[in-house]
Amino acid sequence: MAIERTLSILKPDATRRNITGKIITCFEDAGLRVVAQRRVHLTPDQAGAFYAVHKERPFYNDLVSFMSSGPVVVQVLEGENAVQKHRDVMGATNPKDATPGTVRALFALSIDENSVHGSDSLENAKNEIAFFFKDTDIVG
Ligand code: ADP
Ligand code: MG
Repeated sequence: MAIERTLSILKPDATRRNITGKIITCFEDAGLRVVAQRRVHLTPDQAGAFYAVHKERPFYNDLVSFMSSGPVVVQVLEGENAVQKHRDVMGATNPKDATPGTVRALFALSIDENSVHGSDSLENAKNEIAFFFKDTDIVG
């Protein structure tokens, strides 16, 4: 399997509760490596641009206001099959459906405040990484 990179975001509910380290440990324990990382408080415009793909969805406005409600940690994770592996460790979008032991089963508060974002394909991962990081910010 190929070494990939994926974009991971620890959402405002995670920074608010001071559990970013616990969540990162889940990813590291699965063999993923942090190769770039930054804490940022997104503006509504930045959050809206990042989630533009969901513009027509009924939850878009709530999502944008939540993602700009406090600091987030944006990071690039690297490893074998990183895109799918990260999604597997994250668990289902709705914590009620998330497999026990996954990040969302362990830490998410609700479908809105679900602690983590992860790219859903290699192509989206490339675009989402470029949204936050220059090539020189990534140290593998
Ligand atoms: P994922 O984050 O698992 O890739 P999506 O890309 O479908 O999920 O949705 C992006 C984010 O929008 C979710 O993580 C969640 O915070 C929010 N969201 C998705 N579906 C809903 C919903 N039905 N109600 C409220 N918020 C939602
Ligand atoms: Mg998604």
